[in-house]
Amino acid sequence: MTASSSRYFDQELESLGAGELRQLQDRLLRETLAGVSRNGFFGELYRRHGVDPSRVRGVADLALLPVVRKADIIGDAAEAPPYGRRLGVRPGEIVNVVESSGTSAAGREVQALSAADLEAVLASERAGFIWSGAGAGTVVALHVPVAMTAAGYWWTLALHGLGCNTLRLGGLSTRQRLSSMKSYGVEQMVIGGHYLQRMTYLAGVYGYDLRRDFEKLRVIFVGGGGWSTEMAERWAEEWDVVLHEQYGSSQRCVAWTCERGVLDRAGRGVIHFLPQFYVAELVDPGSGELVGEGEEGEIVLTVLGERAMPLIRFGTGDRAIYRSAGSCSCGRAFDGIEAGSLGRFDDMLRVRDRNLWPDEVDRVVLERAGVLDYEAATWIDDQAQVRLSLRVGVGPAALAGAAELGERLAGDLKEATGLRFEVVPETVGLSDIDRPEHNDGKPRRWQDLRSTPGKRPSWMELGE
Ligand SMILES: [Zn+2]
Repeated sequence: MTASSSRYFDQELESLGAGELRQLQDRLLRETLAGVSRNGFFGELYRRHGVDPSRVRGVADLALLPVVRKADIIGDAAEAPPYGRRLGVRPGEIVNVVESSGTSAAGREVQALSAADLEAVLASERAGFIWSGAGAGTVVALHVPVAMTAAGYWWTLALHGLGCNTLRLGGLSTRQRLSSMKSYGVEQMVIGGHYLQRMTYLAGVYGYDLRRDFEKLRVIFVGGGGWSTEMAERWAEEWDVVLHEQYGSSQRCVAWTCERGVLDRAGRGVIHFLPQFYVAELVDPGSGELVGEGEEGEIVLTVLGERAMPLIRFGTGDRAIYRSAGSCSCGRAFDGIEAGSLGRFDDMLRVRDRNLWPDEVDRVVLERAGVLDYEAATWIDDQAQVRLSLRVGVGPAALAGAAELGERLAGDLKEATGLRFEVVPETVGLSDIDRPEHNDGKPRRWQDLRSTPGKRPSWMELGE
């Protein structure tokens, strides 16, 4: 396979021009909205807002409809448990329910799928694996457990549909995962960026030679954003692979980098939206307007062809940089978001009159060689000063230069964010970083302790 060849999950669709794709989306959107006034949740919502969904003739009119939020969906489910009035089929027609990650005491965000819904979502999951070169017999390591969240289950089914040989490693220790990957000759793997950093380090500790012991490995999918171009280049070099990225949500927005991966010729690649399955708008949260090329917005999702549970203009809270159709060198007219740009709007911290984004700190800190992970807190000290403290975990090899590393990181963070950080490097023991429960889901690195002045981050209490 050469970098210039293309792979298609649907060659006819992938060869359409932007105008033809827009016509297709407009038609699918009108069909999706045709019955939505009869839906218990959306019908009531639109009556309350005095809007008529039949006035939406295409994607350009979507802004006529209000954006719904996670709290609305959870509230609906709480009033008519477990599915809410949004359910548009008999419960006996549901073949799959998925819950969003981070489900908490606030209630469950449930998505129910009919057989047709599940087939559509699996087609969107297969697309990215086909673009990456997976097919019958490809050995794929999944580092995400199969649970009530969407990803692990849908990937498992999609890979089965392609005839892949799926290694289900979520839940094992890193040592066990590496052993399985080597003995079965892994060819692709799906892993969070934060965990890939740690796995790379642990592979060295356990005596693996990445290029020799995983010589068939060609593709690594990293998810979740929070990595820099330099980190992606380093991973690609160390593992000798093409890096790909997926953006996926339990609300059935599944987007992928094409065969070019995350590092396109001219920098960061594009995670392409799949226009026959959903409409993804990138909206400026202040103005409600669509953002332009290279600008940051919130992903607002409308699922097309919905059968069991409609989802119209769902504000995901996910923050990403918009990349228009044609900005990827593959030539597909699928627009999308910039690889590695994903973050969350609700992660933002307001510190000393500045906006601080944790994923920006991720990029600065994790890019440093020797850094495995970090914990951070913003807190108020006894003099009523707001402090930013970081505990950075380094491998034993990096400890000799730890004091210097701490100073450099504080300098880089000041430059990137305009804020002063106190950085404490610490050696991390193997038992701390090779625990199965640490390896899955998105890491929770930040604590905001400012509601209790004087309360210090836990690691500072231990140290003093
Ligand atoms: Zn592309």
